[in-house]
Amino acid sequence: MSGKNSEMMQRDLEVIWHPCTQMKDHETLPLIPVASAKGVYLYDFDGNKYIDAVSSWWVNLFGHSNPYINEKMKEQLDTLEHVLLAGFTHKPAIELAHKLVNIAPQALQKVFYVDNGSSAVEAALKMSYHYHLNRGKRKPVFLSLTNSYHGETIGALSVGDVSLYKETYEQLLIQNMQVPVPYNQSQEAAQRALYDLEKVFKADADRIAALIVEPLIQGAGSMHMYHPDYLEGARRLTKAYDVHLIADEIMTGFGRTGRMFACEHANISPDFMTLSKGLTGGYLPLSVVMTTDEIYQAFYCDYNEHKAFLHSHSYTGNPLACVAALATLDIFEKSDVLGDNRKKSDYIKEKLKRFNALENVKEVRQQGMVAAIELEGYRASERIGLKVYTYALKQGVLLRPLGNVIYFMPPYIITYEEIDTMISVAYEGIKGL
Ligand SMILES: *Cc1c(COP(=O)(O)O)cnc(C)c1O
Repeated sequence: MSGKNSEMMQRDLEVIWHPCTQMKDHETLPLIPVASAKGVYLYDFDGNKYIDAVSSWWVNLFGHSNPYINEKMKEQLDTLEHVLLAGFTHKPAIELAHKLVNIAPQALQKVFYVDNGSSAVEAALKMSYHYHLNRGKRKPVFLSLTNSYHGETIGALSVGDVSLYKETYEQLLIQNMQVPVPYNQSQEAAQRALYDLEKVFKADADRIAALIVEPLIQGAGSMHMYHPDYLEGARRLTKAYDVHLIADEIMTGFGRTGRMFACEHANISPDFMTLSKGLTGGYLPLSVVMTTDEIYQAFYCDYNEHKAFLHSHSYTGNPLACVAALATLDIFEKSDVLGDNRKKSDYIKEKLKRFNALENVKEVRQQGMVAAIELEGYRASERIGLKVYTYALKQGVLLRPLGNVIYFMPPYIITYEEIDTMISVAYEGIKGL
């Protein structure tokens, strides 16, 4: 690393404590200062460019500095930058909520604005617990899947199961139980896990407020994937046992899995759906909890401080973020994004075939615009993810492996040629380990 990058890195390390990072790693591992970004590319201060193959932590859909989203946001900036959403409202929040209700699974009729993914999960958990309370039932426990990830605030962390993030804070967590996630994408695995789920419900459903799942793909849980049959069965069982189903579509929403929402693969409508990440096309933090009219009605009565949902965040429903989300949805309406993605994901599938021949590859899996290559034969201390990351960066591709899993989650505007580059760099990186 030379001149300007290095100077920026020094300035940064004097004052910034980075997320999800052992800061001492940066004594040897360069930090990449990004000067600008356009399309799938990030540009650093020394003139290098990198394909953003992870969509900047799974948020970007239509490229960086997208001309259409930029234009819409610039218009909004001169109109209304922010206003509180209690007692007041604004056009972007209203329009966006209507659009979301139109495209979301059918029973989801109400939109509660929050401002990031973890907070949306917190709000959904609180709403679920509170709903049961308003109906005279105490259900203080949440149920989630093994290997799940729902964010890092205390409540969200409690329902997650990635020990790397959770173990240290065990004593601080809220009440949570876990059932096994289907062990792979087969229908048998889904059936086996549903059997386990029903066992838990038979014993404990009267204490459980909600089952929270990441539909089809467990993102931070190393892109583990399972069959839609599980969602269908989980919907049936949660209904039968008076337990809510929370679909955390923060990562899977907005076309990632091949449908607008992952729940559509199973044709189900959950009681709550959390959305963030791709919601604003990767521009600004914003999230929503969508829920049913039935749940909304359980809070609707003459003022009584115990019955209303008195949850809020300062930047709830920020107009600029809502406009970024509206512009993002416009792009879905104006072009056949899902159809184009289908062709790209078929192409990626073809390209991934040759990974199976590599000795250190355990499994290749894919769902829509997410593809993962799981490696085997390494100890955690070898940090092979880091080796692949470093190699790929030198070749101009940003990959950010999760442990032994190398994955691709590119912006949808990636070209076929860029897909070739992204995949061949990963291939060489894995082969060279
Ligand atoms: C990223 C993520 C979250 C947390 O969202 P943040 O905005 O990072 O707090 C929650 N659930 C899932 C499934 C996620 O992928």
